[in-house]
Amino acid sequence: MRVGIIGAGVAGLATAKTLLQAGHDVVVFDSAPDVGGVWSRTRRYPGLTTQSARATYGLSDYPMPKDLPEWPTGAQVQSWLEAYTVEFGIQPHLRLGVRVERAAREAGRWSLTLSTGGTETVDRLVVANGVFSEPNLPAFDGADEFVAAGGQVLAGTDVHDAELGRDKQVLVVGYGKSACDVTVPLSEVAAGTHVIARQLLWKVPRKIAGVLNFKMLLLTRMGEALFRYHRLRGVEKFLHGPGNPIRRSMLNSVGSVSKRQFKLKRLGLVPPGTMEGIVKGAIGLATEGFFEGVEAGTIVVHRDTTIVRLSARDGRPVAELSDGTVLPADLVVCATGFRQGVPFLEADVQRHLFDERTNFLLYRQILPLGVDGLYFNGYNSSFFSPLNAEMAAVWITAHLAGAVPLPDPGAMRRQVEAQLAFMDVATDRHHCRGTKIIPFSLKNVDEVLDDLDLNISKRVRAAHWLNPVDPSAYRAVTPTLVARLRAGDGVLQDA
Ligand SMILES: Cc1cc2nc3c(=O)[nH]c(=O)nc-3n(C[C@H](O)[C@H](O)[C@H](O)COP(=O)(O)OP(=O)(O)OC[C@H]3O[C@@H](n4cnc5c(N)ncnc54)[C@H](O)[C@@H]3O)c2cc1C
Repeated sequence: MRVGIIGAGVAGLATAKTLLQAGHDVVVFDSAPDVGGVWSRTRRYPGLTTQSARATYGLSDYPMPKDLPEWPTGAQVQSWLEAYTVEFGIQPHLRLGVRVERAAREAGRWSLTLSTGGTETVDRLVVANGVFSEPNLPAFDGADEFVAAGGQVLAGTDVHDAELGRDKQVLVVGYGKSACDVTVPLSEVAAGTHVIARQLLWKVPRKIAGVLNFKMLLLTRMGEALFRYHRLRGVEKFLHGPGNPIRRSMLNSVGSVSKRQFKLKRLGLVPPGTMEGIVKGAIGLATEGFFEGVEAGTIVVHRDTTIVRLSARDGRPVAELSDGTVLPADLVVCATGFRQGVPFLEADVQRHLFDERTNFLLYRQILPLGVDGLYFNGYNSSFFSPLNAEMAAVWITAHLAGAVPLPDPGAMRRQVEAQLAFMDVATDRHHCRGTKIIPFSLKNVDEVLDDLDLNISKRVRAAHWLNPVDPSAYRAVTPTLVARLRAGDGVLQDA
C-alpha cells in the first residue's frame, strides 16, 4: 500500500521505517524544512535537552550514539533522527517544507491537498503531527499597546537564540520544563529575568541527592509501578496493597530530596502537595542552573501569579501581574503549553475523533473509532516517546495486514472511554486530551505488543524493573512481525 504520513518527528519517522520494512510505500510530509519535529531547528530554544536519559530515548534498532551526553541537546537529537532517515532509506520518501492543508476521504483512499498547491493520493493515512507542536499563546489584554511601545511576545519555541534577550527585561511565563530551560540562558544575558508561575511544580533532580541518576528510579518498570494502574499484576498488587507505605515513602522521599537539594524552602519555592503529585502529569526534570539562578538573584520567580494585562507606562512596555506588581517587560516568552488539533481533517471525520470534552478517542492511542484507513502515532506521549511511537508503528503495520485481533466496535469504544475515565482520575485530567500516557508508558507498550503476541520475554521485562528500560530490548519485534506477515502467519482479520 501507499501510506501517507503527516509529520517527520520521531513518530512519523518510526512509522515510515516500519512500514517500509514491511514492504509498503510511504510518503512523509512535514511543514518544517528538516526532520525531527520537537527537535527541529525551527522549534529549538536555547537550553533544550531531552528529559529522558540518552539510553532511554532511543529506537529499538537505532540507539543514540554513546558519545552523546546523558541528556542530549535538541540539535543532537535532531542529527540522530536525520541519520536514522539515511540508515533506513527514509530520505527518498520525505517531502520537507510541505504542509498537508487538507486530507479528504475519496473512494476509500485519502486525497491530500498540499501547501505547494499539489495533491497526493494515498491508500492509508497516519497522522503523526505531534501533540506538542502548535504553541498555545495566551491572548493578553493590552497586547497591542504593549507591542506599540516596543514590547515583544514570543512562544518559547520561537526563541532560537538567547541573544534575543540581551540587555532586556525578560519575562518567562510558565514553570514547566521548557519555561525553566529557556529561562537559564536568557538570564545569562538579560538585564532582568522574571518567571511568572501560575502554579509551582515539583522538579525531579537529574541526580537525586547529587548521586543517583533519576532514570534509576523513574525510568524503570518499578518506577512506573509506583503509580496505580487500573489493572494490577504481580508485584503491583503488593505495592498498592500491603506495600503501600513503602511505595509512598519511595516517591515522597524524592520530594524531600528535591526540597533539600534545591533549597526550595529558603527560596520560597516549595510546590503544593506531595511528590506523588508528579503523577498528575506535571513531572519536570529540574533544569541545571535554574535554582542556582534564583539563589543568585539573576532569576526572580513570581509564584502563584499570572499576567493580567500587558500595557505601557511612560512609553515603556510593562506587564501587570495578578498580585498588583508592575514589571518592565521588553520580551515576554510564553512557555504555556501546546494546542492540539487536526485542522486538515474534514468535519465529518473530526466528529468521530473526540468525546464531548474534546478528548481524542483512540483505541490503544492509535486507532480512531469509525474512520477507516486512518491511524494516529505520537498520541502516546510518554517517558519513552520513541519506543511508544515505534511499537505503535508495529501495531499499525500489523493492522494494515489484518493481523490485529480487535474487539467489536462497541467494546472498543467502551475500552477507550474506560481508559480516559481512568486517566482523568489518575492524572487529575492532565493527560493533554487523551494524548499523554505518563506515567503509564510501559503499560501502553505491553498492551500494544500483547495484542500482537509480540511482547518481549518476561525475563527481560523483569530486568527492566530495577534497571532503566532499554529500547534495544525490543529490536526483534519488527523483524519478527515482518517474518510472520511474509509467512502469511497471524492474519486474524480482513484488512
Ligand atoms: C521540549 C520538549 C521536550 C521533550 N522531551 C522528551 C523526553 O525527554 N522524552 C520523551 O519521551 N519525550 C519528550 N518529549 C515529548 C516529545 O513530544 C516526543 O519525544 C517526540 O519528539 C514527539 O514526536 P512526534 O513525532 O510525535 O511529534 P513532533 O516531534 O512534534 O513532530 C510532528 C511533526 O509534524 C509536523 N506537522 C504538523 N502538522 C503538519 C501538517 N499539517 N503538515 C505537515 N507537517 C505537519 C510538524 O512540523 C512536526 O515536525 C518532549 C517534548 C517537548 C516539547
